[in-house]
Amino acid sequence: MMTNETVSRLDQFFAGFTREITPLLLLDYDGTLAPFRVDRSKAHPFKGVREMIARIQQQTRTRVVVITGRPAREIGPLLRGFPPVVPQPVEVWGLHGAERLHADGKYELRLAGAETQRTLDQLREFLRHNNLGGEFEDKPNAAVMHWRGSSARTARFIERRTREIFAPYAERDGFTLLEFESGLELRTGPNKGDAVRVLAGELAPGTPVAYLGDDVTDEAAFDAVSRLEGPHLSALVRAEARATKANVWLQPPTELRAFLKGWLKAASRQRARRRVEIASQHATRVAS
Ligand SMILES: [Mg+2]
Repeated sequence: MMTNETVSRLDQFFAGFTREITPLLLLDYDGTLAPFRVDRSKAHPFKGVREMIARIQQQTRTRVVVITGRPAREIGPLLRGFPPVVPQPVEVWGLHGAERLHADGKYELRLAGAETQRTLDQLREFLRHNNLGGEFEDKPNAAVMHWRGSSARTARFIERRTREIFAPYAERDGFTLLEFESGLELRTGPNKGDAVRVLAGELAPGTPVAYLGDDVTDEAAFDAVSRLEGPHLSALVRAEARATKANVWLQPPTELRAFLKGWLKAASRQRARRRVEIASQHATRVAS
């Protein structure tokens, strides 16, 4: 059950929806829309979430954007399902904001400077041959070590070794160490907060923006959202609460579905009102 405080914060946000402006719904993927799976290719959305997103696309003017640590191209197939439940392709920012895959398929990649990139490439080359017993994920802008699914003892070993190796890099300009559930990422280039700032810079003033995320890497995005001038909301989607910059805490999947339902209602009400208004303007014009 949502607390009264959460309900009133959501109501306050949804009240900011206006007829003229397309609201922006920003979503992390893993842990937020989908439960964690050791096999990441099987991380399908929580039950009912695809259907809710499909209805939001079909019944409202909402723009849906996913911002994820994964490569951008992995999200479409997982989110849409097969046969597709979510009808429209969504824009996806991958690798925590380094990649931008527009809904129409246009692709942009922003990497770090040449020296930073060379240093990172050497570390990636090393880890490709020495995975420390964990699962090494090789990204163009980052080296990522996962220990999800390992025994507690093995996980501790992988974590300690990974920290030892990543620490000296993390001190250098252009590198950031990110901690997430069962893993460490040493990355370069933009983060999720930068992605939110780029998107926000393209919006009409007063556009409602919400960001939903579960992880420590989402905090930069929560922070960026909290600085917006228009109606905004950030939500930590997670089974257990933790210290966060997010405005509200939602327990998946029930409260996540409740949030999406609230969005659908608020955004379709606005669209319905707009239709009535256009119809009445038309009627007035015909009459005069
Ligand atoms: Mg996540």
